Parts: sequence; structure tokens; C-alpha cells
Amino acid sequence: MSNTSKKVRTRFAPSPTGGLHLGGVRTVLFNYLFTRQNNGEFILRIEDTDRTRFVESAEAYIYETLAWCGLSPDESPAAGGPYGPYRQSERKDLYRQYADRLIRDGYAYYAFDTPEELETMRTAYKTEQNPSPRYDSTLRDKMRNSLTLSQEETNKLLEQGIPYVIRIKVPENETLRFTDMIRGEVIFNSSETDDKVLLKADGMPTYHLAVVVDDYLMKITHSFRGEEWLPSAPVHVLLWKYLFGLENMPTWAHLPLIMKPDGNGKLSKRDGDRLGFPVFAMNWTDPRTGDFTKGYRELGFLPEAFINMLAVLGWNDGSEQELFSMDELLDKFSVERIHKKGAKFNYEKALWFNKEWIKTLPAEKLKPHVEYWLKNAGIDISGKEAALTTIIDQVKDRCTLLTDFVEQTAFFFKAPEQLDLNAILKKWDAQKNTFFVELIRAYELAPDFTPEHLEHTFKEIAAASQLKPGELMLPFRIMLVGGKFGPHVFDIAAAIGAQQTVSRIKYALGLLETGNSGQ
Ligand code: GLU
Repeated sequence: MSNTSKKVRTRFAPSPTGGLHLGGVRTVLFNYLFTRQNNGEFILRIEDTDRTRFVESAEAYIYETLAWCGLSPDESPAAGGPYGPYRQSERKDLYRQYADRLIRDGYAYYAFDTPEELETMRTAYKTEQNPSPRYDSTLRDKMRNSLTLSQEETNKLLEQGIPYVIRIKVPENETLRFTDMIRGEVIFNSSETDDKVLLKADGMPTYHLAVVVDDYLMKITHSFRGEEWLPSAPVHVLLWKYLFGLENMPTWAHLPLIMKPDGNGKLSKRDGDRLGFPVFAMNWTDPRTGDFTKGYRELGFLPEAFINMLAVLGWNDGSEQELFSMDELLDKFSVERIHKKGAKFNYEKALWFNKEWIKTLPAEKLKPHVEYWLKNAGIDISGKEAALTTIIDQVKDRCTLLTDFVEQTAFFFKAPEQLDLNAILKKWDAQKNTFFVELIRAYELAPDFTPEHLEHTFKEIAAASQLKPGELMLPFRIMLVGGKFGPHVFDIAAAIGAQQTVSRIKYALGLLETGNSGQ
């Protein structure tokens, strides 16, 4: 069963039922890192056999998320590839032969039970020791299936077109084992598992049959998936054994859960709504209900930060290092260092990663993001694109989210609409007014509008008026940007230029006279 000599092929196999949970993106990331480290191929397979939960737009959302994160697959429904189709619904006819083969070999059977009959079974066999009876080796001989009916009766029902499902015949009390890349040897007793449905009445395979058949046909060698799939593993081991003699079974890695911040259970979409942070990668609107869920991208996260934050949820490189670029992850990631225990999610930490990545990335790299957000806020920067790089460098240390760049840079391009006049008025007097009138005159005549020159002139006039520059700096800042924020005030003045600086001071002086706070 060794897969070491074969080309590594991994897959991410989401069901297109909604937005992508951050745990899903982490699964992609670990698959991706492992694949790239082994010069392998990473496949995206859409597991859309459950038509009741299918959501049309979810597949496009998955592509967009993966593209945003820089984790694009080598093979997928969109990219194609030699093992397609990559959408299970388009492979429907192919699964049937495997289900038939299992029946032929005595590993599966037809079950004709109606929903009412199943319900009756659940109540009739309910006991204190067995509060939720299941369709398994202890009860299957009490049900209406091809094991309890004669061959003729079964054939008759099939010919009559009576609806049926195909179930796996899980053996009683058999030890099943496999080696997990994270957990080591995992042992199950087959009696813990019921006779899962493999093929549904509509002819669609269930997840269990489809995942095994497709992993086989697509030559998957390794499969990283969430720990929530561990209970399904015994069914998969059995199917691998019955269909393919266990040969080429992929090596599984069941990833630790991402837990609620308090460590109590798996982080769900609802926790995000309750605790005020996103759980989805990008904004998602459920087309069926219209329900809207906010995502990391639209909140102003950098993909670099989002990826970094996910990488360290359940993994570290053994050192104190927390910031990892994709190149470093490709270099340092190792399955051996993935934790077995669930990782507690911490939104404050996610914000910290974003802030650090904004600080770390050069302004040139941040520029397209900032341009996007400014445009989104209706701020026109045309003609001043070149200045944006310098501006970003001046303000980036003050930004936690990309959206913060709007407040931190908008005033470079547009006079503020609102001024925090109250903050000025607290210490305002005629002497300060005179100072600014003189400053206007000096700045109008300034031959050189550099930050150094502007600061020098400012201080000179302050000294002549016997005022402390420190007390004038805040009003000046508010006049230029609207509030108590922004980079060095003379850098701002120099960047917006003489004409804008003077007109903003004049406008503020006018408002101060009338006590008005702006539009
Ligand atoms: N279709 C499953 C899901 O929605 C895939 C689980 C697996 O990777 O085996 O997550």
C-alpha cells in the first residue's frame, strides 16, 4: 500500500452547498502545500451528488476563493484534466457498476424499505441499551431487502420499478485499521458502523461510494480532510477492500477541527454571526434564502494574512515564528507537525496577522488592494496614482484591515466632508486664528512645498506669535484630514499641495467662525 513511488495526487472534494468555511480553505491549503512539496498534482472535485443540498452558485464561489488565496488546482471542472469529469453529478452512470459489483460479490444488497418502514424500525427496536436503532447487522434481517426476500421476490420488485437503495453489508465485529498521517494507526470495530446507503433511489451515489470510486479512478494518493470525516473512514476502508482489494487506497490525513474561541466544539457559521466575526472566506449570499454572510475578503483581509492565519491553526514549524509567506510555508510545512488536538480560533489573532502583513508587504503590493477599496468608497484618485505608493508607506502602519486605508488615505485625494471642530474649539482663541491667517499667507507664497520647509515655516510663525507649535498641530491636522488621525501632518500638507492645504485651512477657519461642523 505504499504510495511513495507514485506521483502524488491530492484532492479537495467540497460539496457545493454554500460558502466556504475557513476550515475548508485550511484543508485546501494543507493539500496544496503537501502536493507542491512533492511535485504532485492537486485536484478539485465537486461532490454534488446530494441534489437536495446543491446550490448552483457555490461552485463559482469555490473557484473565486481558491483564486483569491492563490491555491488554484491543477485539475478541476473548470480547468479540465485527464481524469474528468470532475463533477460527480456528471459521473453518475459510472458509479452504478461498482454498486452492482458489490451486490454480485455479496458485499451490498438492495433495500426496499419505505421511509415509514424505516421509522417503524426506529421505534419498534428502540430499547434502553439501543436508543437509536440503526440499519445494521443486528436489524437488517428484520427489514425488506434482498437478503430477507427471495431472489424471485427481489427480481419482481426490481422489475416493477419499486424504489430501492443499495446498502453496504457491513460485517459484524471485524477490526478495521488504517494509518493516518496525523493520528498514526486508527482502529475501528465494524460494528460501530451501520449499513450505509451507497446508491440512492434516484440512482445517485452517496458520498461514501462516490468518494471511494473517484479517489480510485482519479489515482488519488493522499487525502487531507477534516476530522469530521473520521467516522466515515471505516466504511471507506471496507469499500476499498471490497472493490479494489485495498490496493492504492489513499493515505489519509484527518485534520484537527477548528474550534470555537472557548474551545467548546467545532466553529460553525452560527458562532461567527454570534461572536461578530466571519467564518466564510468571502461574502456569501444564499440564493435560496437570501441570507447574507460576511467573508474575510470583503472585510479587508489580505490573502497572505488569511492563508498565514489558517496555516498556523493546527500547525507550527516548531519555532516561535508566526509569520509565514507562501514560500516559507512551502519550505517549512510538514505533516508531522500538524497537531492532533483541535485548534481554537482567535479572531483577534486573525486581525493581528492582517496588521502584520500590511506592515510587511511593500506599498507596491498593497497598491492594487488600496486602489480597489478607494474606488469602492467612491474616491477618485485619477491623476494621482503615482503618489499612492508614497501615501501607502506613510499610513500602512496604522491599518489593521485594508478597509482602514480608506479613512487613512481618502483625505489625500479629497477634502474631508466632516471636521471634528469640537476638538479644535476646546482650545481655540483669536490668537490661534491669527496664526492660521498668517500661515495661509506664508504657505501661499512658499517657494518650496516640502514637508521640511512647511514645518520650518509653521514653527517660525508660531514662535513669532509666542504659541507652542504642539498646540497648533492638532487644529492643523483636523483642518487637513477631518479628525485626529493620519500620518505626519507636514507630509500630508506636502502631498496634497499648496492650493489644497490653503483652501482646507480657509474652509475650517470659516466654519470655526460660524461654529458649523461642515456638510
Ligand atoms: N464532499 C465531502 C465534503 O463536503 C468531502 C469529504 C472528503 O474529503 O472525503 O467535505
